[in-house]
Amino acid sequence: MSTQYRMVIGGARVEARSGARFDSIDPYAQAAWASAPDGDAADVDAAVAAARAALSGPWGELTGFGRAALLRRLGDLVARDAERLALLETRDSGKLLREMAGQLAYIPQWFYYYSGLADKLEGSSIPSDKPNFFAYTRREPVGVVAAIVPWNSPLLLLTWKLAPALAAGCTFVVKPSDHTPVTALEFASLIEEAGFPPGVFNVVTGAGPATGKALAAHPDVDKVAFTGSTATGISVAHAAADNLSRVTLELGGKSAQVVFPDADLDAAANGVIAGVFAASGQTCMAGARLLVHRSVHDELVAKIVTRAEKIVLGDPADPATEMGPMANEPQFRKVRGMLETARAEGATVASGGGPDAGLGGFFIQPTVLTGVAATSEVVCEEVFGPVLAVLPFDTEEEALALANSSRYGLAASVWTKDIHRGHRVAHRLRAGTVWINAYRTVGPNVPFGGVKFSGIGRENGIEAVHEYTETKSVWVELSGDTRDPFTLG
Ligand code: NAD
Repeated sequence: MSTQYRMVIGGARVEARSGARFDSIDPYAQAAWASAPDGDAADVDAAVAAARAALSGPWGELTGFGRAALLRRLGDLVARDAERLALLETRDSGKLLREMAGQLAYIPQWFYYYSGLADKLEGSSIPSDKPNFFAYTRREPVGVVAAIVPWNSPLLLLTWKLAPALAAGCTFVVKPSDHTPVTALEFASLIEEAGFPPGVFNVVTGAGPATGKALAAHPDVDKVAFTGSTATGISVAHAAADNLSRVTLELGGKSAQVVFPDADLDAAANGVIAGVFAASGQTCMAGARLLVHRSVHDELVAKIVTRAEKIVLGDPADPATEMGPMANEPQFRKVRGMLETARAEGATVASGGGPDAGLGGFFIQPTVLTGVAATSEVVCEEVFGPVLAVLPFDTEEEALALANSSRYGLAASVWTKDIHRGHRVAHRLRAGTVWINAYRTVGPNVPFGGVKFSGIGRENGIEAVHEYTETKSVWVELSGDTRDPFTLG
């Protein structure tokens, strides 16, 4: 039976003003399992107004110590409900329970980490360059934050925005993906239970792009924090620019895994599998381009293919499953189409190559493509599916040129036992994150974000909380004398 959810605005559970609703589809069962209100611009107005009002309510009066206590309590509640929330994420997105259980068990650390910063958002005291003045700065909350998040790790990517925003004293309106509306709505109950005042956290759901568009373009939003595709991110940035709202954008990627001939090839093969087949490749940081030294190309590809062919596809809720389905039908069609184009462009299919005939549904086989041209679509564009494109190189310079030729710059990895080369190459890769002899590791305290078309700004770490503050400078005149009104200084 389908569960009917309502939006959360100003602490109340509400239907869309139009009364419209839409279904959330379980991509494994391929059936509607929940429904949510189809909010429009009027609902977005109400949510933004509730968030604005909460800034001047009891929330605005809280000290950083008070916010820290609430964040700690929220972390405890997420830990308590991690299993339940992980199951909901799996139903909504089709992602492995194995993966979502790990994410949900980890999410409390973000709330604990940012609770530790909430009471340390200090300004500075600045010695004046002129006598009789004193200056200091304050870090003030940026105000109302509009978060727009995708379907691939709904609560984790929400948390990356929410935890620093709450630490900074902001209020929040989130628009989850129409493919995964449920968990943000469930999360609102934990926010309430933790004791956050009404209006601090609001959730508006909607069936298509209109709800997100209205939120990104809302004139009373101070900052838009977006995670999603590069194309949508650019339109969100345009909309925000009309109001000069601040933006952070976490966008797509086409991350390179660069394997040198001295690397531990078993470890590299394992890292490549983790990079592109975990989460069925539906992760922004997917290591979807393998750049491998020609002398070890065949050996490494053979190791990857052997493991790829053993990957267990199936029910995402089964702990034995290693790869679930694509999260929704448009994504499934997109991946299938890109595989057809790759073949037409001359790629050799070393493994997989298309939908899984046995399982049917939205399953795509783990796919390894060799013999791809550096200019082909499958090398240049984000697939967001379990598809690895392999390119050989002969020299370090060539590897760097290939890695950096992408318009994206989210992440990369270097596989080598040579410590000099590892750091040297890491420094020259144009990416927001580089792993050396590892892949797909993140933490609450390490900044994450992209360069080039992968985004603007950073999430996680101390600098993320600063993305949710404005610096105010205060000048104090100390002499009490009258100054010449026609000079600056
Ligand atoms: P998407 O861009 O289609 O949608 C993202 C969100 O934006 C959804 O909530 C959607 O409803 C909303 N939206 C759609 N059109 C909008 C518009 N015109 N204005 C405002 N909001 C709008 O992305 P998706 O398909 O949900 O997610 C997959 C993409 O997200 C991939 O490209 C992936 O790389 C990226 N991603 C990036 C990161 C990162 O941290 N860099 C993390 C996860 C996913």
